[in-house]
Amino acid sequence: QARKRFGQNFLHDPGVIERIVRAINPKPDDALVEIGPGLGALTEELLSVTPSLQVIELDRDLIPVLRTKFFNYPDFRIHEADALRFDFAELAAEKPLRIVGNLPYNISTPLIFHLLEQAGVVQDMHFMLQKEVVQRLAAMPGDNNYGRLGIMAQYHCQVQPLFEVGPGAFRPAPKVDSAIVRLVPHKTLPHPARDLGMLQAVVRTAFNARRKTLRKALGSLVSVSQLRELGIDDGLRPENLTLEDYVRIADTLVSQDGNAVSSNGTDASQSGAEQTQDKHGDP
Ligand code: SAM
Repeated sequence: QARKRFGQNFLHDPGVIERIVRAINPKPDDALVEIGPGLGALTEELLSVTPSLQVIELDRDLIPVLRTKFFNYPDFRIHEADALRFDFAELAAEKPLRIVGNLPYNISTPLIFHLLEQAGVVQDMHFMLQKEVVQRLAAMPGDNNYGRLGIMAQYHCQVQPLFEVGPGAFRPAPKVDSAIVRLVPHKTLPHPARDLGMLQAVVRTAFNARRKTLRKALGSLVSVSQLRELGIDDGLRPENLTLEDYVRIADTLVSQDGNAVSSNGTDASQSGAEQTQDKHGDP
């Protein structure tokens, strides 16, 4: 019986499972980690290529099922844990991780933000997600789905949507279409911010008011003259700015020594942080 609260939709289409594993292309000595193995549909196929695999599963009722099913793989390790709180660096002692998973859609956005924070210990990630979330991850300025998720994902990673998967590949069938995405952390950040927290605050603040002009949306953080000095038109909307523009705005709010500076005397990174509450559906 699948559990809704754990976002359980189990893959059962062998063709789709095979296609996902082919896209991942696991090698026997990869440090492979699967999030949410469920009943082990993808796990089984991964283990046939990579005998050493670690999985993170929150639903304790599934643990004995996985143990029984894969008892004859000595390098198969189960972590009964919440992936949202998991310290992935712990698993990356020897080499960067290759993280995969058919993610629980109800927590995929906060989970991706959590994983982006740990991009430094990751080689690549392949995820099954709601198709709309993949579109948000890959969105460019001006796209409907462009927002915080895409900007922060593209700050850390190269984002490659791979292919779509219909509801019929799962049991129970989800109400939405799905897609596979590959995220590859940049070896060198193309647009490094002086202070990542400040960049996050600027992007979050901007998209909290995505329909307003920058003058209004970013008014609490940056003055019109600061925007103009950067050559950014304050009449544009948050969706029109590139990642690089956001980095430039964030950098003007941080002095060379990394401390927050602000035109109105407040600590800009704090005023952004007050609005930290993650809104699930909000790009
Ligand atoms: N990989 C399996 C498959 O493709 O058939 C199951 C995918 S199902 C969409 C998501 C899985 O993630 C479920 O097994 C669920 O119990 C697990 N899960 C849900 N929340 C989790 C969390 N916070 N941490 C780890 N696993 C979680």
